[in-house]
Amino acid sequence: MASDRFCLTCGVPLESDDIALYMKLISRMDRRFVCLDCLGRRLNCERDTLEKLIAYYRQSGRCVLFR
Ligand SMILES: [Zn+2]
Repeated sequence: MASDRFCLTCGVPLESDDIALYMKLISRMDRRFVCLDCLGRRLNCERDTLEKLIAYYRQSGRCVLFR
C-alpha cells in the first residue's frame, strides 16, 4: 500500500488532500495517484488553482473526500 502514497508520475510523497482531489477530479476508482503539480499539468491548470479548489471543498464541508 505504501506505493499508493507516491506520485505515479514524478514520485514525490502525496498528501491526503492530493489524493482526495485526484479522486474528485479524475476518478474514485483509481488506486494510484499523482501530485498536484502533475495533476495540474494533466488538467492544464495551475497548482495554485488546485490548492484553492482543495480549500473550497474543505470549507464547503459537503464532500466526503475532504474531512
Ligand atoms: Zn508528481
